[in-house]
Amino acid sequence: MRAIRRFTVRTVLPPELSALDELVQNLRWSWHPQTTDLFAEVDPELWERVGHDPVALLGAVDPARLGELAADPGFRQRLADAAADLRAYMTAPRWYQGLPHAPRAIAYFSPEFGVAGALPQYSGGLGILAGDHLKTASDLGVPILGLGLLYRHGYFAQSLSPDGWQLEHYPSLDPGGLPLSLLKDVRVRIGLPDQRVLHAQIWVAQVGRVPLLLLDSDISDNDAAARDVTDRLYGGGTDHRLMQELLLGVGGVRAIRAYCELTGHPEPEVFHTNEGHAGFLGLERIRELTESRLTFDEALEVVRAGTVFTTHTPVPAGIDRFPREMIERQFGGDNAWPTVPVDRILDLGAEEDPGRFNMAVMGMRLAQRVNGVSRLHGAVSREMFQRLWPGFDLDEVPIGSITNGVHAPTWVSREIMELAGRELPSLVEKAKGWEDIQKIPDAEIWAIRGRLRARLVEQARVRLRASWRSRGASDAELGWIDDALDPGVLTIGFARRVPSYKRLTLMLSDEDRLRRLLLHPDKPLQIVIAGKAHPADEGGKRLIQKIVTFADSEDVRHRIVFLPDYDIDLGQLLVQGCDVWLNNPLRPLEASGTSGMKSALNGGLNLSIRDGWWDEWYDGNNGWAIPTANGVADPDRRDELEAAALYDLIEHEVAERFYDRTAGEPPRRWLEMVKHTLTSLGPKVLAGRMMREYVLDLYQPAAASARALAADSYESAREFATWRLRVTKSWPGVRVEHVAASGVGDTPEVGARLDLRATVALGDLDPADVLVEAAYGRVGGHDELIHPSYRPLELQGRNGDDGRAHYTGEIPLDRTGAFGYTVRVVPSHPLASARAELGLIAVPEEPVGMTNGTLR
Ligand SMILES: *Cc1c(COP(=O)(O)O)cnc(C)c1O
Repeated sequence: MRAIRRFTVRTVLPPELSALDELVQNLRWSWHPQTTDLFAEVDPELWERVGHDPVALLGAVDPARLGELAADPGFRQRLADAAADLRAYMTAPRWYQGLPHAPRAIAYFSPEFGVAGALPQYSGGLGILAGDHLKTASDLGVPILGLGLLYRHGYFAQSLSPDGWQLEHYPSLDPGGLPLSLLKDVRVRIGLPDQRVLHAQIWVAQVGRVPLLLLDSDISDNDAAARDVTDRLYGGGTDHRLMQELLLGVGGVRAIRAYCELTGHPEPEVFHTNEGHAGFLGLERIRELTESRLTFDEALEVVRAGTVFTTHTPVPAGIDRFPREMIERQFGGDNAWPTVPVDRILDLGAEEDPGRFNMAVMGMRLAQRVNGVSRLHGAVSREMFQRLWPGFDLDEVPIGSITNGVHAPTWVSREIMELAGRELPSLVEKAKGWEDIQKIPDAEIWAIRGRLRARLVEQARVRLRASWRSRGASDAELGWIDDALDPGVLTIGFARRVPSYKRLTLMLSDEDRLRRLLLHPDKPLQIVIAGKAHPADEGGKRLIQKIVTFADSEDVRHRIVFLPDYDIDLGQLLVQGCDVWLNNPLRPLEASGTSGMKSALNGGLNLSIRDGWWDEWYDGNNGWAIPTANGVADPDRRDELEAAALYDLIEHEVAERFYDRTAGEPPRRWLEMVKHTLTSLGPKVLAGRMMREYVLDLYQPAAASARALAADSYESAREFATWRLRVTKSWPGVRVEHVAASGVGDTPEVGARLDLRATVALGDLDPADVLVEAAYGRVGGHDELIHPSYRPLELQGRNGDDGRAHYTGEIPLDRTGAFGYTVRVVPSHPLASARAELGLIAVPEEPVGMTNGTLR
């Protein structure tokens, strides 16, 4: 018999223990082992049984045991200390509090948040990054307010069928059994077509100092379809996705307003959207501003100034798009917002396919500041979206990058944290002194690495046994698992989602060769694999089946294992226990990747294709780069080449180094590399570095722009919007009509200067509206300027009758070889953040310039 409804009855704590509730309700415990030690003390055996979930612990603990603890002065003291520590953590000034003019609050929107295993609201890297973002904001005192959805079935739990096929389960989550509290009597409402309304309630997860608001549509005010909007993460069809994104974006802003009003939390000045899914937030903010006092165009300027958009995919197919009619239906007809015309909305999401509405493109049009998540991904994104800024060079496409980082207290093993605390206090307290790692004795690091590997082996056996049992094996058949994996063998980890570009099965490219590596008599290898395929991705499931089938083979099953249900807990185990972290995506499709960073901080070594973050920070000695066969067009051939390179590296470099030992000694050359990895990568991969960059390079400037526009009751916004409209309308009249150069002879020499004179038609515009500049530098085979330099030209005068303006300037011939120049006109305004801001440019119709030293 199944229950028709389930809920969790919470324990009533004795008053002496009421602080336990405070500790459990603040997710800081998920990165604070001293707090979880205290939870374990409540009932050590039960703590293991509930999988280290403190809400479940308090739900199941025997009241008699609570009585005992209430009477135990030692426990009460430890509890009081822990509570005092949490309160101090919540209020002490931190890095952010020392910044001048910092935003009062920042809203951070994401479709998923991976904060803790006990709050399964994530599918992969995007969500884990969002979780690390919140935790790091909390540690640094950054006043972020997180916005997401509460999925009643989370993503999915993974198991395997007897023949290795991925099975999905959707556990039903009861918010009462999660570390959440409900904002009572507060509802968010969103109008839908056909007079329907989508209602949602708001849960708050407290992530250290950062509140995370999660919208939940599973309430009785809703019809059945609306109740299901927040059922699953990335489940359902396009309609379902639109409803989710509407709730996240529009509902998210409404939830913020309600939360701030209720609690006195400051209103965010900056809105950051983690990927395009929350893009509708910009529309809601336009609606708010247009209903009070601004026109659509004025409101658009204000919203753009205060919005930051982070793109996460270099794969065009990964971009979120809707059929145009769906948007028309949602935001048009009798559901239209009176001050936000649906045509304007459609324009914001317009892309090359006229039938599609593109969330990424809208995200970029609604955000003045856009970034990718590694340097390479920034470059790939500029290429991918260059058409939004036609006429501008790639370098000028206003998309920057901030490389991801990871939250060390979440991902670094306790042993290493404690070692650092003992040996390197300045590193722990001030993130300074990474060089001191070199002083730690090899034996100490090696002993910890051995302990972490042994823990992985032990836990992997438990998980492996559970997996085989669920696939129908009996204990009698599973004796071999007692010896599966070996705590002394070089251990490679490979764990990630399973889209095809991550190439889960590349290592199977030559099965015999892999077998020989695994079973090598002196220098064997073991591989631990985990990963979930999206439920609709049959191809991904076939890859999992292929790897599971190989790992099932009797001759190698003790050396290669697939562990189902990759999640935060399994991730921690793997990144801490593996000696080598393998990543072999198809370059450049991995935007950043973060699991390798987690491994590096634990003393693991990366073995990876140079993609994402690894392309940026691999230095030749902090791990290994698998050479890419980037130019090879045939994908099978490319895989084969890259796999062969991978096997070679493992055999000749990785295993050699790992097993290179003088009797009884730790492997010196291996540990040299580990120490170099920690020293060179440690300071870079920390999420604190990432957070400082977000604050200083994006949040602060965005708040400054937004404040500038809002000044004098939005007078600047009115002026800027009017200026943009005027310049855009008059732009067709802007032309570079004539360019002449003098000052060098027939054979120009380096160091000479070229005098330029340009005649520019400005149409209705004023010289103050534009910047006229020379672009110059190296030219390629088609006269294209390569990474040109720019110099403004000076206005000499303007003809009264025809509006032509004359400009002059000098450019230095600062390089030998093919050199060229041109003149261009771009709009110019102090409130525009980039030259390409308006996407308008005028260049000469006829090419001008000079190549190979000859004037043309
Ligand atoms: C870190 C992490 C990810 C993201 O790692 P990638 O390197 O981007 O693949 C995904 N899932 C879990 C559970 C993680 O811990």
